Amino acid sequence: MFTTSVVTFAVTRAVPRHTLCEHCGAEFVYHLERTGVGTSGFGLADSQEVADAKAVQAAHVDLWRELDTGAEPVPCPECFKYQSHMTEAARAERWGRVRHYGGQALAALPVVAFLTVIVFVVLFPKHTELAVAVVLGTSAVLLLAGALAALVFRFGKCVPNDWPEAYRKAKADELALTRDDFDRALSDGGPYVSDLVAGFEADYAGTPFLWVLPEEIGNEGAVPFDLPDGTEIEVQLSDADDDGVFLSGDRLTGAPDGTRVCLRLFNVYKPPTAASA
Ligand SMILES: [Zn+2]
Repeated sequence: MFTTSVVTFAVTRAVPRHTLCEHCGAEFVYHLERTGVGTSGFGLADSQEVADAKAVQAAHVDLWRELDTGAEPVPCPECFKYQSHMTEAARAERWGRVRHYGGQALAALPVVAFLTVIVFVVLFPKHTELAVAVVLGTSAVLLLAGALAALVFRFGKCVPNDWPEAYRKAKADELALTRDDFDRALSDGGPYVSDLVAGFEADYAGTPFLWVLPEEIGNEGAVPFDLPDGTEIEVQLSDADDDGVFLSGDRLTGAPDGTRVCLRLFNVYKPPTAASA
């Protein structure tokens, strides 16, 4: 009579994460993607539709918490250093590698043990107990060493800025764009505007996207922007602006008549609070 079912809904989104380097002051952007999961149980009292809506809403709350408080280990493209809020993500990245190789070693252990026994039986047919002892001893030592290594990597000190600079530079080249490079490369919105554009492709055709920070809107400043054809214009921001609004006319200094720019907000890191943890 109280049978309940559980509805699960997952939603994935990618955002451009803007970071102001705490070491050198450079502004850079990297790709941040997260999946939010929401569940809701329903019994006889709720309809399927209500349960679905609750799960969808919970998934979006989870998604935005993940996008706001999450971080990827991405070194600054100017000074190749990690931000302090990326330390845990860097540790996870390194731990993931260790776990990957550790898992492979563990998977190989039975095969190695089996082959060792065969070799010993062939070489010393009268001393099979010696083979078993050697295999057991070696396996025990390897497992212990693996467990110790895992503990050190999991709980030891992690200082990603002490990692070799060549590695950090390679990671920065792979994952980060300076803000200027991002503006040039992503003025068509790239993968970050499907939330707005899906279903309205004709309305957005040819409209460049200008990415700004929330405080730049609050400051009502003028920001330089290059139109796709190379024309340099200046965009006057107003604190009434919000994510997704179109700007045109006297808001765009130096732009040809009829030019329209769509304003978008960068994602920025927000430290987790007690409420969001
Ligand atoms: Zn830097």
